[in-house]
Amino acid sequence: MSDNILDCVIIGSGPAGYTAAIYAARADLKPVLYTGLEPGGQLTTTTEVDNFPGYPDGVTGPKLMQDMEKQAKRFDTQVFHETVTKVALSTQNGGIHKIWVGDKEVLTRTVIISTGATAKYLGLEDEKKYSGGGVSACATCDGFFYRGKEVVVVGGGDTAAEEATYLAKLCAKVTVLVRKGGFRASKAMVNRVLNTSNIEVKFFHELIGIEGENNLVERAVIRNNNTGEITRIEVHGIFIAIGHKPNTELFLHQLDLDENGYIITEKGSSRTQLPGIFAAGDVQDHVYRQAITAAGSGCMAAMDAEKYLTSLEN
Ligand code: NDP
Repeated sequence: MSDNILDCVIIGSGPAGYTAAIYAARADLKPVLYTGLEPGGQLTTTTEVDNFPGYPDGVTGPKLMQDMEKQAKRFDTQVFHETVTKVALSTQNGGIHKIWVGDKEVLTRTVIISTGATAKYLGLEDEKKYSGGGVSACATCDGFFYRGKEVVVVGGGDTAAEEATYLAKLCAKVTVLVRKGGFRASKAMVNRVLNTSNIEVKFFHELIGIEGENNLVERAVIRNNNTGEITRIEVHGIFIAIGHKPNTELFLHQLDLDENGYIITEKGSSRTQLPGIFAAGDVQDHVYRQAITAAGSGCMAAMDAEKYLTSLEN
């Protein structure tokens, strides 16, 4: 379609956004992608990515994202290193959606939302210091580096339980630090943790510091919240698993979000409840949260957008 209304705006530049861009561009939707404040998304803060197919020797997160951006641009995606500040989404079939980038107003028939989620951290200075040197928020991404070693998992929810059981298969020992006297995780997940012999759960314990040499983790400094006693555990990896925050503030009161703030999409598709608005990647997925699943859902979103635009022409 031609006029000054775009066919497809993509918000966010992780694997979901760039894959959506590649597919949308190849379908001639001439997508415009706004990267947001963290071009490349969460992967730009990781080191090695060994589980993305097509890279037999692994690839760094930043390089993977640069490659995806290059590929999206090869098919004439316009990539702007700018942040979308406001949206007004139409509720009508065939309606025009408004996007603001600062003072600039952009009109579009479809929007693919791939703004991702942000892992929560405790806020300790040491988390930053040892990031990439033993502190991680993703066991599936980084657990492999700690095979046969001892690690700590912080948190008592489903994420922590899942990360701990995953790590227990690779690591010599996993110590789970739960700040209260009980888990928040579901019973089934808790049972799995409690029945795994190389997982030790320390209730009423918090991580208060990290020690090591050359920015590599060697010890977790922990505090017993009941007694105030401070002790140290020798570990190589510390996994912070206290939840993620989906980046959905822009869409509050316009899109249906679940109780944790994730965008709700129709099962088996990227469609939100509004016509022409699609969501892909971690912003709508709190279960898998992998680069490859985000990329897959980006592809789905572009195909859904294309199908929607075709339906408007008929
Ligand atoms: P949750 O919010 O459910 O749990 C967060 C956990 O981290 C809680 O135990 C919380 O403790 C703890 N925590 C929070 N802040 C701190 C802190 N500063 N210091 C120490 N501990 C802290 O997050 P999850 O990511 O675990 O789960 C989010 C949602 O995703 C849930 O609905 C969950 O069911 C779902 N999920 C489902 C999975 C599955 O079905 N396979 C897998 C993963 C998640 P406290 O309880 O004291 O507040």
